[in-house]
Amino acid sequence: MLFLLAGASWFISLGLVRACANAFAKPDPQAWEWVYISTSPRAYSYHQSGDCKYLRKTTHNIEFISVDEADEDGRTPCSYCIEESRRHQYDNSALYVTPFVFMLLLGLIALIERVFRKYSIKSPFVKKKERKVLNQNDIINLELSIKYANINKKNCEAQKEALSSMRKTLDLIEAEFLQKTFIDEEFIDRIGRVVTILVNGGFSHSIDNIMTLWNTARNSKEQECMRLNTKMLIHVLWCGYIERLLLIQRK
Ligand SMILES: [Zn+2]
Repeated sequence: MLFLLAGASWFISLGLVRACANAFAKPDPQAWEWVYISTSPRAYSYHQSGDCKYLRKTTHNIEFISVDEADEDGRTPCSYCIEESRRHQYDNSALYVTPFVFMLLLGLIALIERVFRKYSIKSPFVKKKERKVLNQNDIINLELSIKYANINKKNCEAQKEALSSMRKTLDLIEAEFLQKTFIDEEFIDRIGRVVTILVNGGFSHSIDNIMTLWNTARNSKEQECMRLNTKMLIHVLWCGYIERLLLIQRK
């Protein structure tokens, strides 16, 4: 969203400075320094851009000379290149305008948000988050994946599976926690079950696996297993910590 906004700001800024350039900028062909010319005997212009549409028509060679030489040669600046240079004259300033446009857009979005909220209209910018709840299936999956990882200690895939299951569980707990206006018994019970699974299965499993692999890990695969288990341990501790927090809050 922010990238989109930054991109939009850049385009709006560029449009703004070009509009200003069209209105106020005075092109100065003498400032071009180096210009392109056609060696055709009938050509009498010099061009700022080698890609100018008039220059592209020539069947003769194109030379790159200084603007003074072109002047001495009696050549005059190409009208199309003058217009183009006028249009792009302020382009560099777009860089300075962009932050202001960006802030302006942010302010505008905030304003629209406020109006929408005031009249209880669904906001166009904030997608309604679907309610995320840690359900029975998630808890069973967690238990099974930890058991499986426990049996297949040296199987990285099994460890990964258990870790991602733990991550998902923690994400769900966090999401549900943030949605809640008050903490009920049922929620704490559910988290309690997760902590039990994590401590009985996950914690002992991680410690066990880390200890075993610590001494025996010989190849990168086993070291990877160890790394995954260390991450799991952190998840277990984190979940236990959340439960502690909730229990303290309830008292
Ligand atoms: Zn030109």
